[in-house]
Amino acid sequence: MKKAARHPFSETLIAWYKDHARDLPWRRTNDPYIIWLSEIILQQTRIAQGLPYFYKLTEAFPTVFDLAAADETTLFRLWQGLGYYSRARNLHKTAKLIVHENAGIFPSSYAELIKLPGVGPYTAAAIASFAFGEASPVVDGNVYRILARYFGIETDILHTSARKEFTALAQELIPASDPARFNQSIMEFGSLQCSPAPTCDACPLVAGCLAFQQNRISLLPVKSKAKPQRIRHFHYFIIEQGGRVLVHQRQAKDIWQGLWEFFCVESASLDEAINLYPFLSPLMLYAQGLQTPAIHVLSHQKIVSEASLVQLPEKFTFEIPADYHWILSSEFEQLGKPVLLLNLITDNIALKEILEG
Ligand code: SF4
Repeated sequence: MKKAARHPFSETLIAWYKDHARDLPWRRTNDPYIIWLSEIILQQTRIAQGLPYFYKLTEAFPTVFDLAAADETTLFRLWQGLGYYSRARNLHKTAKLIVHENAGIFPSSYAELIKLPGVGPYTAAAIASFAFGEASPVVDGNVYRILARYFGIETDILHTSARKEFTALAQELIPASDPARFNQSIMEFGSLQCSPAPTCDACPLVAGCLAFQQNRISLLPVKSKAKPQRIRHFHYFIIEQGGRVLVHQRQAKDIWQGLWEFFCVESASLDEAINLYPFLSPLMLYAQGLQTPAIHVLSHQKIVSEASLVQLPEKFTFEIPADYHWILSSEFEQLGKPVLLLNLITDNIALKEILEG
């Protein structure tokens, strides 16, 4: 391991980091709770987007005990806009597990950390190295890119064998004497220097970089074509009657699990939605279109949504679909909801006024 510490790649990277590191709040601590929280926030999220959420969540829940004691609705509301709500759910689950089964103490090794809900190899390695000084290398898209380019590796990073190969290489490179600094350096280098459009002229690793020497930068890392994006059509019916709206909480193992929404039908067209749910047919007498198709892009799906506002007279009766119930219109604001609905409300003055009561 001492030999690995002398690898010119690692030394150069760490020296570069000393001059270029951004001052970020989670880098000023070795508290595993704060590091874990920041890592979960930053999964699939850019630093600029995650930073306000980090401040908001650490202020609301300064310790793992506060997070474990929080109710899910409060957490989801604070998480609103970050997406990937399974992260928030796992955050809560893990906090409760650590408080109730481990007296609030975080596991201190990669092997134990990876058993926590929502903690994958990257997050476990980050916490193990930053909080506990364990020589566990972080391996993510940034690391694949840097290593593939510098060492000229042709392995398809979407292939199942890639993680093993790149982790083994990073394990050789990480110095046992300063694993946290190495991991921070390689992550920062991937964000700022060896980015998808790198600035090789100013790169301290350029002399040893095989991709640069062989003019293969745009070809590395090798990444086979990802699966085509799935396109889904959601038709929302905002059914309002006497100051109440009809809502439900998404339960299925699907996007937005646990979030709240209006009556929603997934179907190719409005006519098909009404055919699927015949009770809608008489309600459409009171409907007005709220939204022409809007597109909401998720990582592997594209949601095309349309919405109708259905304001029913007091005496109108119909059979409420299973799993739906009435709430006061003004209560909807308090519930965690998908960004798609937040945008719909923000863009519609009429709807906004109804929901403000
Ligand atoms: S020379 Fe360019 S491609 Fe090679 S490590 Fe530096 S920034 Fe990345």
